[in-house]
Amino acid sequence: MGVRRFETDIAIVGAGGAGMAAGIEAREAGARVTAFEIAAEPGGASIISGGGCLIVDSPLQRERGIEDSPDLAFDDWMKWGGPSADAVWARYYVEHSLNDLYFWAEKLGVEWSSMLPQEGNSVIRWTRPGGAGRELTERLIEAYRARGGEIVPHTEITGIRIDNGRATGLGGRNLESGDSVEVHCGTVLVTTGGFNSNLDMILDVRPDLAKHRIMEGSGPNATGSGHALIREAGGYLTHLGNIWLYVYATPDYRDPSGRRGLVFRGTPGYIWVNQQGRRFHNEARSGAASATPALLGQDPCHAWGILDAAMTETMEVADPRYREGSKVSRARIAELFANSPFIANADTLGGLALEIGVDETAFLDTVARYNRAFDDGLDAEPEFGKPLGQSKKFDTPPFSAIQLFPLARKNFGGVKTDLRCRVLDKHFEPIPGLYAAGELAGMAGGHINGEAGLEGTMLGPAIFSGRVAGGWAAEEAGYGAGFEGNPDRR
Ligand SMILES: Cc1cc2nc3c(=O)[nH]c(=O)nc-3n(C[C@H](O)[C@H](O)[C@H](O)COP(=O)(O)OP(=O)(O)OC[C@H]3O[C@@H](n4cnc5c(N)ncnc54)[C@H](O)[C@@H]3O)c2cc1C
Repeated sequence: MGVRRFETDIAIVGAGGAGMAAGIEAREAGARVTAFEIAAEPGGASIISGGGCLIVDSPLQRERGIEDSPDLAFDDWMKWGGPSADAVWARYYVEHSLNDLYFWAEKLGVEWSSMLPQEGNSVIRWTRPGGAGRELTERLIEAYRARGGEIVPHTEITGIRIDNGRATGLGGRNLESGDSVEVHCGTVLVTTGGFNSNLDMILDVRPDLAKHRIMEGSGPNATGSGHALIREAGGYLTHLGNIWLYVYATPDYRDPSGRRGLVFRGTPGYIWVNQQGRRFHNEARSGAASATPALLGQDPCHAWGILDAAMTETMEVADPRYREGSKVSRARIAELFANSPFIANADTLGGLALEIGVDETAFLDTVARYNRAFDDGLDAEPEFGKPLGQSKKFDTPPFSAIQLFPLARKNFGGVKTDLRCRVLDKHFEPIPGLYAAGELAGMAGGHINGEAGLEGTMLGPAIFSGRVAGGWAAEEAGYGAGFEGNPDRR
């Protein structure tokens, strides 16, 4: 085993959305850029994400006659995120999302194609490309490489070198060869993502969750390694307990640790029942702000997602194993339904109740009441007000029940930075040469979302803050004039 030495202007740790956006910016400023990535392929959580970004006053909104503005978005943002949302970063993002994310990404080949309503927004803003996070992240990776940016895979960074108070390099190892890696650089930019694939760290910052079964739910390397690197280098971490948990996930039965969750989508008609066989929430309001507290309030703290055969047919699982390129792998989903001990199937609803051990009378009554809303021609079912436009009756066997537990997905706290993405120390002063962006920095700046996100406020700010960090890291290394962008300052 030897030593691999690298010399570069900007050393990026982590080649996900934020890292690649940073690399593009720094390359355009003329700096040499090398990104070190622990995985075999770049992409991180960004490439498996839904690809939704909060965009303010976009062409898609205007086409639909939706009037939006940075003022309105900022208002929604601060109301939703609460007092711990970082107003300065939130304002910075909503003013830049149109020109410096939407149009910028379009120039790199991203085609924004659809929008969805999300809780907390007074108008629809969640905007994504047809190819979701894969399309967005692949275009960033291509653009970075096309500009001469280098990605060094299989490389785990384990330390930041600080000389006389300044970040000057990195240490790590190549996971294939075992060689140690030594990096000498002008500035260090850390974009290692969140820590929601590290249950120990989640419970460490949120001991109140220890009484529940919580599943890990971010990218495979979202283990918080960057948080440790920055802490060791003297950086300040903040709001780490602000973790965004979702409901629509079931344990991955193939994961021997039993910790990893699989998120499923594309089941608008399904309902959730608790172990008493009763619904407890409007399933159409599936966002983390309302659905997760509802699930955490159940005793025991899990639920069953109930589907009939027609609903199962449209289901998708947000995990690369359940896809073949851009297509859903129906064979793999059938395998999941056949083999997961967390999924039960039966030819009758009564049989399903027996399989999952819920009170049969209560369960049958719950489904009958839900079905009656369709017979009565209602627009919404009366119990929780779920709109029925996208739903259907439970009438097509076999019926299935998927056991759901809360899943930790997104970190709304992280490394505190200023508006140049310089890492701040405990005195709130920048550490020379050290930058952080993306989910490592609570998506941007440390805590841009506060306690709750409007959705699209993770990936969007992660990529945007990557651009900001790349511009300023290049400037400090002697290239370009830093990030300015083109804000909408109405
Ligand atoms: C399934 C899923 C769906 C989501 N959907 C949405 C959505 O639709 N909208 C939204 O706003 N947000 C969404 N999010 C959240 C959003 O995708 C992330 O917050 C965002 O992508 C984070 O980007 P990032 O670049 O900071 O981190 P990542 O994309 O995770 O990149 C971090 C990279 O760092 C690497 N790395 C980690 N440690 C090291 C190390 N020590 N050395 C070297 N490399 C390292 C990782 O392998 C990874 O490639 C979703 C998240 C998930 C998991």
